[in-house]
Amino acid sequence: TERVLASAKRDDDQPEAALRPQTLSEFIGQAKVRANLKVFIDAARSRGEALDHVLFAGPPGLGKTTLAQIVARELGVNFRATSGPVIAKAGDLAALLTNLEERDVLFIDEIHRLSPAVEEILYPAMEDFQLDLIIGEGPAARSVRIDLARFTLVAATTRTGLLTTPLRERFGIPIRLMFYEVSELQEIVRRGARLLGLPLTEDGAMEVAKRSRGTPRVAARLLRRVRDFAAVQGDGAVDAALADSALSQLEVDGRGLDALDHRYLRLIAVNYGGGPVGIETIAAGLSEPRDAIEEIIEPYLLQQGFIARTPRGRVLTGQAFQHLGVAAPPQAAQ
Ligand code: ADP
Repeated sequence: TERVLASAKRDDDQPEAALRPQTLSEFIGQAKVRANLKVFIDAARSRGEALDHVLFAGPPGLGKTTLAQIVARELGVNFRATSGPVIAKAGDLAALLTNLEERDVLFIDEIHRLSPAVEEILYPAMEDFQLDLIIGEGPAARSVRIDLARFTLVAATTRTGLLTTPLRERFGIPIRLMFYEVSELQEIVRRGARLLGLPLTEDGAMEVAKRSRGTPRVAARLLRRVRDFAAVQGDGAVDAALADSALSQLEVDGRGLDALDHRYLRLIAVNYGGGPVGIETIAAGLSEPRDAIEEIIEPYLLQQGFIARTPRGRVLTGQAFQHLGVAAPPQAAQ
């Protein structure tokens, strides 16, 4: 599915790199996270030590990769990046680890997708900065121990629940990223427009911000689409009316919900009287993978108070019925 609101990274997000904040002070929002990171980074720097391992958790597009790069830059060390699914064999990780210099940052995106065999060798590497490798096979096999540089692992995951407990416990600095406030997104949109050289009014920035699903990546993408509409239909400048008309044509509603969100909500509202409905039933009804629903669609709907999770499944709130313009059954959750 081609969702303009998809928070996962896509090929046409290439221009993203130009919009990436480079320093902690340029990074907008997540004030508490930034304040804490600054303390830890300053402390590690002044002691001349590697920073503790950091785990960023939260939905896609909230700035986990960006923060990982910023951490390395603020520490003044090298940044090496890879991701869970890319590290196929223990040897791949060993090669990465042995190439690190003192205090370097190794970034592993989607760490919940590491294979168990690779995870095994990550434990001693994180804890004791040692690598235990088995060389050779059968009776000739022997284990060798290699000392590593004291590095910092910065990892990102969309789902902490999928991490094994021993892995999770090895991160001294676990950080959860939350959806952004509209005012923060407005600032991000304003900054993006400035970098793109796009004239944008305050209410235009507000309109894009409100419809960005609390997600900077989505805000950047909507801004680029709005810019296209402005170039073709407007006189170049973007105000609230133009942003509204552009985003409505892209089927993004006033609360930042798109056609897929509407299908999700309507399925529960119309076919199941507001729920509760199990996730497998919803996945089957929408013909979407369960992972995508839990990772991409639901977090924002939960945060906005459109749905609630109960032990027996998802239920729609009164607010959701109101937003859909569907009459709520008397027993619908508020
Ligand atoms: P994640 O790794 O969580 O999926 P990224 O770090 O790749 O998210 O961020 C997606 C894009 O959103 C980045 O390229 C950047 O341009 C933008 N972005 C993220 N966080 C911020 C922020 N706080 N301020 C401005 N732009 C941001």
